[in-house]
Amino acid sequence: MMFCDAHNHLAAPALAPHIPAIFPALSAAGITHVVVNGTEEADWPTVAALAARVPAERPALHITPSYGLHPWDTGNRSPTWLETLGQYLAADPSAAVGEIGLDRWMLDRARADDPRLAGLRRAPLDEQRDIFQTQLALAVALDRPATIHCIDAFGLLLETLQAGPLPPRGFLLHAYSGSVELVAPFAALGAYFSFNGAYLAPRHVRLRALYQTIPLERLLVETDAPAMQAPPRHAPHAFAAAPELNHPANLADTYTALATLRELSLSTLTTLVAANYRRLFLRA
Ligand SMILES: [Zn+2]
Repeated sequence: MMFCDAHNHLAAPALAPHIPAIFPALSAAGITHVVVNGTEEADWPTVAALAARVPAERPALHITPSYGLHPWDTGNRSPTWLETLGQYLAADPSAAVGEIGLDRWMLDRARADDPRLAGLRRAPLDEQRDIFQTQLALAVALDRPATIHCIDAFGLLLETLQAGPLPPRGFLLHAYSGSVELVAPFAALGAYFSFNGAYLAPRHVRLRALYQTIPLERLLVETDAPAMQAPPRHAPHAFAAAPELNHPANLADTYTALATLRELSLSTLTTLVAANYRRLFLRA
């Protein structure tokens, strides 16, 4: 099988002790391609280091590094963030832009003591939009795909994207959770949509129905590992010492479940997702 993880965070500090075990597990699970996203300036050297060492150590695994400032990290950026981001992208023509985006949940619904947001200044939406548009413009200027995070701000996202310009190769709405009605207008602008294993939890009925409507030529699959844990029966892989972390090898099970959801054979789904992944993330 040739499974492609359209969105993960293998450079996250929480995964660092597990990296030597993760790569063989990915290969054993049939995972051949991964997009590794950086979300803040401190992440970017680790993403670059992984991308540099994997080709020699694991020739069967292809990494697309991706560099960006996540909306959660927007408020804590340094004065030189944009210059640094430009340097990382210029240094690797295969690198993508992301994870970037808009997040209203952080402002309106997140608890004041959410540990995932500890120490972060929560940037207001106009500031998030400004930083998002700056990074989108960089993706356009360098002809790179972009990976977008959006929670509770899909109207503003559509409006921002419609103002353009947009990356000619398209962009990924990772773990898309907007409405069915917005799928067509986003797709018309070049969107791809990645299904996450966390959406297999019984309560996510709406999200599974949503992913039955995504055009097949725009469908991708992702883990967001170590975040977004799939429910236990769809998470056969786990870290014994850190069961709260999502193991990226769980991607294979997500493919199987999505094939059932879309009433496709696993091999048909795998072939079409690989073609979509190649079109968006890999240069012809
Ligand atoms: Zn992510």
